[in-house]
Amino acid sequence: MARAASLLCLLAGVAFAATPESSDSSQLLARADAIKTVDNTAFAKLLEQLDKNTANLSEAQKWTLRYLHAWELGYTGQFVKAKPELEVIARQAPDNTMRINATASLINILGFGHHYEEAFAQLDQGLDELPRVSDKNARFHLMAEAAQLLIGAGQYDLATSYTDQIIADYPDGRNGCIGRYLKVHANFLDGRMRASDLDAQQGLETCVKAGENMWTDAIRRDVANFAIQQGRIPEAIRLLQNSYANVVGYHYPELTAEYDALLAQAYWETNDSAHAEKFALDTVDIAKKDDYTQPLSTAYELLFQIARQQGDLRNAVTYREKFVAADKDHVDELREKALAYQFAKQQVEIKKSQLEELNKKNQILQLQRALDHKAVETSRLYIALLLTVLASIGFLLYRLKRSQLRFMRLARRDGLTGIFNRQHFVDEAEQALRYTAKSMRGACLILIDMDHFKLINDTHGHTVGDQVLRRAVTMCQRYLRSCDVFGRLGGEEFGILLPECTPTQALYRAEQIRAAIHATTEDEPQDIPISASFGIASADHYGYELRKLLIAADDALYSAKREGRNRVVMSETDTDAVSPSSERATG
Ligand code: GH3
Ligand code: MG
Ligand code: MG
Repeated sequence: MARAASLLCLLAGVAFAATPESSDSSQLLARADAIKTVDNTAFAKLLEQLDKNTANLSEAQKWTLRYLHAWELGYTGQFVKAKPELEVIARQAPDNTMRINATASLINILGFGHHYEEAFAQLDQGLDELPRVSDKNARFHLMAEAAQLLIGAGQYDLATSYTDQIIADYPDGRNGCIGRYLKVHANFLDGRMRASDLDAQQGLETCVKAGENMWTDAIRRDVANFAIQQGRIPEAIRLLQNSYANVVGYHYPELTAEYDALLAQAYWETNDSAHAEKFALDTVDIAKKDDYTQPLSTAYELLFQIARQQGDLRNAVTYREKFVAADKDHVDELREKALAYQFAKQQVEIKKSQLEELNKKNQILQLQRALDHKAVETSRLYIALLLTVLASIGFLLYRLKRSQLRFMRLARRDGLTGIFNRQHFVDEAEQALRYTAKSMRGACLILIDMDHFKLINDTHGHTVGDQVLRRAVTMCQRYLRSCDVFGRLGGEEFGILLPECTPTQALYRAEQIRAAIHATTEDEPQDIPISASFGIASADHYGYELRKLLIAADDALYSAKREGRNRVVMSETDTDAVSPSSERATG
């Protein structure tokens, strides 16, 4: 089996420890999951067994089996086949624990295949989902992959935040050991390791206690590397040599190559060029196959120094060239990871700023809505206020109009009798005459003047005089049509314009009124003789001009007075049109 030659693959923890079904299938799945790294051959057989029985699997179990197959593809280095499978599971699996495990495995193989941008994109998605994942093991799986990837990109602080989270979740055991190893490694690469480093000590203790020898030796590698940097070479050699046999036995060439490179370096520092050359050549032997550029570059550099020291210029030139190439690859890889991280971070920033933008827009919209709402309320208030003002104005206008109308009526009416006053009589009569003139239907004007009224006043008092005037008016109104115009022209004198009326009809009407007024004499207890004299003029002879009719009627009235009062006189010109019998009327 071609093992995926990376420590990363070991991170995939137990994904389905808490599978709810207790059927045979679910036990088989749980067992397969538990042994997948411990006994990969038995694991592969279990998968075969499960594959034959897929008809009996529930939907969730089918997804589990699919994940285990994908995991196996990744574990055996078949990244091209593993990737699309894991992508489907990471997106579509109904269970978020499985989605996170698939995402973590995907990050692992993407990182191993140097697809760092994709790996960071997956990590970003996984971290988005992480707060909703309650399964501790799945959380560990993703956070461990996150830390590993971030360490590769030189983001040690960020990586440490995940390792601390892992250590908080798992102070002990396998997961706690891996969390502590990752923390020590980040510290070392970041130059934060100290002599007798507390994190390294705790890491070693935890891993030894958990029986995780390989991780113990991975921590020792960093401690030894730090010792070399500090010039504590014998200590470093002792540490590395103590673990060396075990490390070779793990069959993890990356770790072996690192040990070889460090040993070569340490021996070179002690001027033991024979050992230095041996371990450097071992490093090249292992690292070249799987392209572990960092130990390779260390090894080639040492081999170049050794060849130069030995005066082997030919080899020196060759190793120098190889060192330059390996170092360039190593630096390129580091840069590639860092760039991928920066790119992913940028994408996240862009996403975040887009979200913020969206939030701002939403806030603006909400503010706008609130403002609109307020504006509506305000305009409602304004409308209400306006309506109140308009109603008040309307009411005031109405009252004004009413009092105006009252004043106008008062201005047009005579205060004592309530009929038109002189001015209004003149206006109305002129208008009626203009109207009647158009159809030439004739019109007559009657002027009435109370007889010896001064005497009534003098004898019985002004109040009685007023009463007599009001009663006379009532008598007149009794014989008038609605179209007739009736007014008090002054003192005890009245005018009546009769439109569409012949002189005969006017004479007849005047006679009725005269008789009625005279008849009121009997109403007075003091036995006052009450009468009035009448003068009539017709438009047939004087035209439709009021002024001329007034003069003619006044002449006729004067005649009536002169002829003895209490009588009706038609103006002289009109007399011809009236029969002599109707002209004479005496009291
Ligand atoms: P004649 O028959 O010639 O018309 O005699 P007369 O007394 O009616 O005429 P004259 O013009 O001399 O007197 C009119 C009187 O009418 C004078 C005035 O005091 C009186 N008079 C005018 N207006 C009123 C009024 O509103 N009320 C009362 N009680 N008397 C009024
Ligand atoms: Mg008079
Ligand atoms: Mg009079």
